Amino acid sequence: MQQYREIKSRHQDAILFFRMGDFYEMFYDDAETASRAIGLTLTSRNNGGAAEVPLAGIPVKAAAEYLRRLVGQGFRVAICEQVEDPKLAKGLVKREVVETITPGAVFADDLLDGARANYVCAIATGRDTSRDGLREQIGIAAADLSTGEWRLFLVTPMDAPAVLARLAPRELLVVRGASHPELAAAMQAVDNVLVTEREGWEFDAQLAGDELARQFDVRSLEGFGLGSDDAGAIGAAGALLRYLRELQPGGLPHLARPVVERPGGVMPLDEMTRRNLELVESLRGGELAGTLLSVLDRTTTPMGQRMLRQWLLAPLLERGAIELRLDAVTVMVRDPVGRASVRDALDGVRDVERLASKAAAGRATPRELRALGDSLARLPQVANAVRAVLSHATQGNSSGGLLTAMLDDWDDGRDCAERLTTMLVERPPLMIGEEDTIAPGRDADLDELRALRDGGKDAIATIQSQERARTGIHSLKVGYNRVFGYFLEISNANKHLVPDDYQRRQTLTGAERYVTPALKEYEEKVLSAADRIETRERELFEALRRDAGAAIRRWQQVARRVATIDVLTAFAEVAEREQYARPELNDGFDMEIVAGRHPVVERMMAREKFIPNDLVLSEDGQMIVLTGPNMAGKSTILRQVGLIQLMAQVGAYVPARRAKLPIVDRLFTRVGASDNLVRGQSTFMVEMSETSAILHTATKRSLVLLDEIGRGTSTYDGVSIAWSVSEHLHDAIGCKTVFATHYHELTQLASELGGVRNFTVSVREVGDQVLFLHRLIPGGADRSYGIEVGRLAGLPAAVIARAKEVLALLEGEGEQMAARLTADGLAVPKSVSRKGPRMKQPGGPTPQLGFFGDAAPSAMPSA
Ligand code: ADP
Repeated sequence: MQQYREIKSRHQDAILFFRMGDFYEMFYDDAETASRAIGLTLTSRNNGGAAEVPLAGIPVKAAAEYLRRLVGQGFRVAICEQVEDPKLAKGLVKREVVETITPGAVFADDLLDGARANYVCAIATGRDTSRDGLREQIGIAAADLSTGEWRLFLVTPMDAPAVLARLAPRELLVVRGASHPELAAAMQAVDNVLVTEREGWEFDAQLAGDELARQFDVRSLEGFGLGSDDAGAIGAAGALLRYLRELQPGGLPHLARPVVERPGGVMPLDEMTRRNLELVESLRGGELAGTLLSVLDRTTTPMGQRMLRQWLLAPLLERGAIELRLDAVTVMVRDPVGRASVRDALDGVRDVERLASKAAAGRATPRELRALGDSLARLPQVANAVRAVLSHATQGNSSGGLLTAMLDDWDDGRDCAERLTTMLVERPPLMIGEEDTIAPGRDADLDELRALRDGGKDAIATIQSQERARTGIHSLKVGYNRVFGYFLEISNANKHLVPDDYQRRQTLTGAERYVTPALKEYEEKVLSAADRIETRERELFEALRRDAGAAIRRWQQVARRVATIDVLTAFAEVAEREQYARPELNDGFDMEIVAGRHPVVERMMAREKFIPNDLVLSEDGQMIVLTGPNMAGKSTILRQVGLIQLMAQVGAYVPARRAKLPIVDRLFTRVGASDNLVRGQSTFMVEMSETSAILHTATKRSLVLLDEIGRGTSTYDGVSIAWSVSEHLHDAIGCKTVFATHYHELTQLASELGGVRNFTVSVREVGDQVLFLHRLIPGGADRSYGIEVGRLAGLPAAVIARAKEVLALLEGEGEQMAARLTADGLAVPKSVSRKGPRMKQPGGPTPQLGFFGDAAPSAMPSA
């Protein structure tokens, strides 16, 4: 207990798994916490002291499952092992914590999701003195222990939440007691994260810089692209490194050199846009179904799957880089046969990235090391298949883009693959011991020992027949167990025939077990051979693993290349299946989408056909006000524009017949009321702060998609806010904007502002049905059909009739009010020539009818 207390005192914030023989024991509070959290039986034990000690134990063999559950609930678990052989120990066995497992720092497969990275992040503030004077800069360091990936981000406070949300870390290190509002805002952006407070000095840039240089064996951090202005990022990285070292006292040999990301390389996607576009999580429940990721994920390897997710959350901003990806997708699209063989070759490639990390960390099991070997062995086939696609492309005079770069200095580790696959048996066991790990014929010593062992076993088998003959007992048999070793078993019925030289070892209900000197002699031979076999196998295996692990940099590189090939091939696969087109990117302003579709909605439609729509946003018409009744398809169009733009900048083909697209610097999508209520803000407040963020951040090169701004307040407030927000976007920012609204008053904006165009999603009334044609046509909605929809939904006739009366009344009042405001000059805040919105429906024009498309439009059934 003294030893326990001493070790526990150094691991206060973790549950301590204290190894005692075949069990991990937990004591005191740890035992109580664990029994509450995962339902372990709590016992108590008198350990020689006066008081009883609460105790809970789990068998070492079953530890993985308990660990999974504890870490899954956000606990840290410190694993304390017996670090010397109890047989050789003088006095108390030495024990040490060999590893601490936290939600953010895990190696074990059953704690990881193959489809996504498992990051632990650290965040710190710094100052960027290089730009306009002093400017706050936030540094974020992210590491994935399972792959060795290590990234640093230098971001503005505004973008920090977006970067964190994109990384979705399981654990976040922050300075203890820090009350920095910008850090707090960033932390809000991630759900389900374990926040770990660390001391302020650990984030010190000077100290951190030295530590980093030592870990990566470099003189200065300049090689990583880090300078004296990057204190935040360096501090965060240093604190993270120190933390990981604490968790992994055995070292971090597999940590890759940090990759630094600065503003400008990728598009920051804020949380609302990421969520509203349902890129990797659906709005409802956060699951995969219904997301863009689910449509695009035709990857074959776990590395590819993880990379696809990363790409979707980090669209590119440089046209050159995007075209490189698109060129690669194009050659893959044009060569379906070649593509199939690439996919075929990728099929047997397992998670090289994680397997290699385990090898480097000395954790790979024999089976995992063989899987690494088998995967590496498939890589030449991958390269050949890609080469074939590229040569096909050259004949067609097209460049392979990024695909070509992937094959530059291609190193698939043939040497290592060959060694692993020849040294290890085809299906090695999970651990060295009972079954063979090293293949026969690879090591003379091992072969000799095995011959000895097998000879001994043969001799023992011979003893069985000899003894049967000698005693006349036909049922006599030789058996083996761990405690008694080899024995001769004789049933009670034959007991009287047992010779005198048999020594009894064990009594069972129906039989007795004996040994003889000859049996013991061979047993000794077999067992000592087995012992030495195990030792030799371990030596050989560990050397093999060390060698494979030492080349970790090579495997990390090849894993990234395989992942890239995988994602590009998946893009091509989906492009063909879904009939997507290559986006035509330009450096200008204009956007023109012909027959665009929503990639997710179109796949979810069962009977009806998705109606494609055209959309143009240009210098002389940069804002579309989109009106139309509920259910017409406004949000769908809005999101589809955003998704098409995003997919293009990710380097994928897009769901359209044709799409001429600019590069946008940011994409904002504010849709309806989000469920931020849990964070204690009212819906309207959330809507306004999201809108405010857009107005402060958007530039002329941004694409802004707004759905129903101002809905959360009274109609007058709502229309006024929507009106002035539109004016600001149009006049002050000049960005491309699609504004979907059910306030048809906003259609008047078109007559006030030069760049505004009205569009509506057409609807047709047939008998008592409202048909939604889902077709975008120029013009404003003439009415909202709210009352009709209410009628269709079965509101009583009297209620409907009264609603119509009230509507007429309100419209009358609205007109008077507007007239009064205009007379007072209050409704003209900007320029005298401008009128504000009229709170009245334009009475004149008859409903504009859309056309039936090539398929029947969906209908709202009559109640
Ligand atoms: P709104 O935002 O106008 O209320 P939505 O965009 O939510 O309407 O669309 C309502 C439903 O109409 C969608 O769930 C979808 O099933 C269908 N829909 C929308 N757009 C189309 C389209 N272009 N083609 C076919 N069906 C569509």
